[in-house]
Amino acid sequence: SEAAKDRRMRPIGKDAVHKLCSGQVIVDLATSVKELLENSLDAGATLVDIKLKDSGLESIVVSDNGQGISPEDYASLCRKHWTSKISSFEDLESISTFGFRGEALSSLCAVATVTITTATRESAPMGVQLEYDGAGELQSQTPVARERGTTVQLSNMFAKWPVRLQELKKNARKEYARLVSIVEQYSIISENVRLVLSNQSARGSPVAAVRTPAQSDRLARLLAVLGAQVKPHIAHFEHQADGDLELTIEGHISKPGGGRSAGDKQYFFVNGRPCDFTKAKKLVNEMYRAQCPSRLPVYAIAITINAKSIDVNLTPDKRTILIRHEQQLLAVLRDALASVLEPAETAFSISAAQ
Ligand code: ADP
Ligand code: MG
Repeated sequence: SEAAKDRRMRPIGKDAVHKLCSGQVIVDLATSVKELLENSLDAGATLVDIKLKDSGLESIVVSDNGQGISPEDYASLCRKHWTSKISSFEDLESISTFGFRGEALSSLCAVATVTITTATRESAPMGVQLEYDGAGELQSQTPVARERGTTVQLSNMFAKWPVRLQELKKNARKEYARLVSIVEQYSIISENVRLVLSNQSARGSPVAAVRTPAQSDRLARLLAVLGAQVKPHIAHFEHQADGDLELTIEGHISKPGGGRSAGDKQYFFVNGRPCDFTKAKKLVNEMYRAQCPSRLPVYAIAITINAKSIDVNLTPDKRTILIRHEQQLLAVLRDALASVLEPAETAFSISAAQ
């Protein structure tokens, strides 16, 4: 093309930049669901219903009973870096919402067809249906009946990303398992929120994949994911560290002997955020294996730490969290786990010595 022959530098067009960046923020179906679910939780929902068709390949619909969207925000809702959650970088230190980058809805508009219906306490039982174009600009606005809350519908996922779409279809089963795992993580940590995820395959009726009680009790929520039969095999632990890290580690884990051969259902939360914590995962699994070779535990471990000691803004999905004094944290985790994984042996050696 002309552009290729002319080697001088020029800025990439705004539309192209938007597409380039959006494909990296919304990388797959699981990220799409995660972002919408986070928005519902950030909106204070106590009920979130996620409906997938064909594992999300056909459509993703997330409905909540949260605070809804105000008319003055309709036009800017899907604009890049527009958010109601922070206004300055410093706000990150005291952030209590999952979102803050203001790029999920804007990026979703670039990779899917986005339709939103919403109503606030003031407007219900009337609401509005909003349609946005690929650039995130509001295209139409139609009055509809709806209760307080918001529904975001995504369809034509990755229609303009044929290579990505083909890859997602090829690995549909694995992708779906990852999506379910992510929703499970939010269902465990989101106290007092009823969360339902169901999937309807091309032929067949919807199948519930996640269904949590409205209970706040962490164990009850964990068992909703693992199955009630696991209960006798789960131990609880809690450990508080001294010092200015303000560190607390609390969790549930399989007792030695109660583990499984699969290495899934292993969840970490840092300050309420589900995340990947490779080093901690390795530590926990090694400690468990030392007691119980060839088995792996299931666990949900919640770490609370001084917000000034972490950086959650490392990747757009915020699943990798940078922790200052990570070694110290891992040492505390080791102590906490020793109390549940190793007491049987200690008790035995004491009684054996008597
Ligand atoms: P962020 O979550 O980082 O602010 P998003 O693009 O995910 O960015 O969302 C943009 C804004 O849209 C949010 O700040 C919020 O004000 C509004 N919003 C999105 N989803 C919902 C929802 N389910 N309920 C109420 N408001 C929402
Ligand atoms: Mg968000």
